[in-house]
Amino acid sequence: MNDQVISLRSLQEYIKGTDYAPDQKLHYFYKLVEEIGELSEVIRKNRRIKDTGHIKGTIEEELYDVLYYIAALANVYDIDLEECFRLKEEINKAKWNK
Ligand SMILES: [Mg+2]
Repeated sequence: MNDQVISLRSLQEYIKGTDYAPDQKLHYFYKLVEEIGELSEVIRKNRRIKDTGHIKGTIEEELYDVLYYIAALANVYDIDLEECFRLKEEINKAKWNK
């Protein structure tokens, strides 16, 4: 990917081009849970790029990993996250009067 604006749809397409195995749905789900665990650890340790000077072992890295597996999981279920976002936002706006 280059420096252009990244939409949820383009992110999904990009990941689909390199990592897409519809028969491995549980694998993607387990990886997502694993990455959420890693995110939990770096949040507990408050590890940030601005302090370490690199992305490895930071909240930034683990947020990327979680986003990656959310997109990969959506792909193997043939789910459009942008559509989900719009549909759920409508519900939230009505529910929370936003
Ligand atoms: Mg990770």
